[in-house]
Amino acid sequence: MNKKKVLSIHKKPSAHWVGDGFPVRTIFSAFGDPASRFSPFLLLDYAGPKEFPPSNTPRGVDEHPHRGFETVTIVYQGELEHRDSGGNQGKIGPSDVQWMTAASGVVHEEKHAREFTQRGGTLEMIQLWVNLPAEFKMSAPRYQELLGRQIPLVRVADGGGTARVIAGEFQGQKGPARTFTPVNLWDVRLKAGHRLDVTLPSGYTTALFILRGKVRLSSSETAGEVDLVQFERDGEQLTMDAEEDSSILVLNGEPIDEPIASYGPFVMNTQEEIRQAVDDYRSGRMGRLH
Ligand code: MN
Repeated sequence: MNKKKVLSIHKKPSAHWVGDGFPVRTIFSAFGDPASRFSPFLLLDYAGPKEFPPSNTPRGVDEHPHRGFETVTIVYQGELEHRDSGGNQGKIGPSDVQWMTAASGVVHEEKHAREFTQRGGTLEMIQLWVNLPAEFKMSAPRYQELLGRQIPLVRVADGGGTARVIAGEFQGQKGPARTFTPVNLWDVRLKAGHRLDVTLPSGYTTALFILRGKVRLSSSETAGEVDLVQFERDGEQLTMDAEEDSSILVLNGEPIDEPIASYGPFVMNTQEEIRQAVDDYRSGRMGRLH
């Protein structure tokens, strides 16, 4: 089998606030990239780690819509609350994941959980946007709350770490997330001096986001904290050697070879569909929060 080659290592992400609760660094954004090198992934935002003082008013993002894709929220530290127009409500904390399929349209708010807000503490989370193929963009919304205990854990040899399988499959363990196209999403913790060998399908988009630590990739390049490593689509084999205790998010997915038209929280295939989305939201056809 062929080794996967590093295509590029992205450093120095741009920082901004999303609402008053999420100090975000955008690790990658597929918008404006005509080559769609990240497909099926659209965006990766990394919030924190940041300490918030106690407060009585939950910080976050007020009511807003989405259409045409999925938002995947992974909490590392802190606690979030979600409420949407489909009547879904949830609270997720460290090791939990929320996989929300906006599809034809969802209106939601994303906030720090009330108790977390009152207590204060550190927030660290990721939000990944996953595109939907055209045939599912107008399907019914769906909400999957994947609690830590539902996410299978693969142990690295010699106590060298763990890989939590959120979506897809790793070493015979299947992740609980239901996806519309093939996606592997793994939360890997690797201790200094240990190695993880992975085999991934050739032809898929593959990227590693290093939240913490330092990792040597297939015995050549080294990536550090908050680096995003993108690999060539060819090749199946990838070796990670942790030079420090590392936390790594593995992203791998079959590209969706379709045009992208986007505007803020809407990701469709044509400008006409974007105009329709704006119109549907304004006239309340994506629903409301109750
Ligand atoms: Mn949102």
